[in-house]
Amino acid sequence: MQAPNVYDADPIPAEALAEIERMFTNGDLFRYTSENASVALLEQEFAALLGSKYALAVASCSAALFLSLKALDMPRGARVLIPAFTFAAVPSAVVHAECTPVLVEVGENYRIDLEDFDAKLAAGAEAVLISHMRGHTSDMDAILARARAHGVPVIEDAAHSLGTLWNGRKIGTLGKVGCYSFQSYKMVNAGEGGILVTDDADLIARAVIMSGAYEHNWQKHPVVPERFAHWQNKLPLYNTRLSNLSAAVIRPQLALLDDRVSKGRANHDYVAARLNTSPALQVPPALPQEERAPDSIQFNLCGLTPAQAKAFAGAAKARGVSVQIFGQSTDNARAFWNWQFLGEVPELPKTRAMLMNACDVRLPARLSRDELDYIADALLEAAETASKVLPDAA
Ligand SMILES: *Cc1c(COP(=O)(O)O)cnc(C)c1O
Repeated sequence: MQAPNVYDADPIPAEALAEIERMFTNGDLFRYTSENASVALLEQEFAALLGSKYALAVASCSAALFLSLKALDMPRGARVLIPAFTFAAVPSAVVHAECTPVLVEVGENYRIDLEDFDAKLAAGAEAVLISHMRGHTSDMDAILARARAHGVPVIEDAAHSLGTLWNGRKIGTLGKVGCYSFQSYKMVNAGEGGILVTDDADLIARAVIMSGAYEHNWQKHPVVPERFAHWQNKLPLYNTRLSNLSAAVIRPQLALLDDRVSKGRANHDYVAARLNTSPALQVPPALPQEERAPDSIQFNLCGLTPAQAKAFAGAAKARGVSVQIFGQSTDNARAFWNWQFLGEVPELPKTRAMLMNACDVRLPARLSRDELDYIADALLEAAETASKVLPDAA
């Protein structure tokens, strides 16, 4: 059997093409040209799906994070706590909003280290931005309680967590505002795109205007008109809207979400159980409150030296299974020491230790049981090969 191709995307549902053909005929690609544009319908459907009052579709999740900070009216230089394990676009969104990212340690279960969170919250913060990195949910009960006690808003970066539940509630709807991505490697694929959800009328009015609803285009949003009238002409227009073309690609995929989530979770849990039979591999369990929606698997190498870790990745690759060890690949965008645009990058020993051992393998929902076994076998055999490599071999 050949190694399964985990990089190919799933086909886009045919309904999208019919809608795009219609748009090609009338050229109606801009969200504010007609009533009931695809982008507006997407916002209504997405808000309903999440059980949120309001949604705003934008160019990317990064744009949604940036707009969230702007809509929260964060003053210049405001300290925003973010996990030190996230994608480089997240601290970048904070910098873009003229705020200061404060990196919080992340433990070997890929979640915020609450001791460090407490220390950094106590040292002063004006907002908390939690990336549920690769769908791993930080302890939101603890984080929400602490943020509430300090009177600071919580933004959820649920870019890669669409479909995850926390105490039965949808991830991204727990904080003040939640942001999701439609970039190709996420649960819903439009190439690019993002969306934010909130129940706060003032926040959505500000975000809508700043996303590029110039003049009275806000009338095409089903949101409290007084708030728009209040902010009219008072906010900059960052023009980071979504095109109707993207919305047409996204909308038919929303109906596929439940199926993708349940298949992705079953695939993940099956491979996790197999990997956990090796003493060299460990898949951190879900938190008790968490029901995950994974499209990839992360696991830690236990007791392997860097040389052995390299041998592990090499042996897996030889069988056609690509393993990314976050901290060991050059210029990795999820390794905080590469975020040189921050100026001085702090030393974060816990996060660094985690990144040096944390592996990432894609596991799309469409994989068959045989394909999952192929991947698990390859990883288990690679772990065995690596354990036999001399610890200090180059
Ligand atoms: C993908 C991702 C982003 C960025 O999303 P874009 O839509 O590409 O801007 C941010 N945070 C996390 C956790 C992600 O996985």
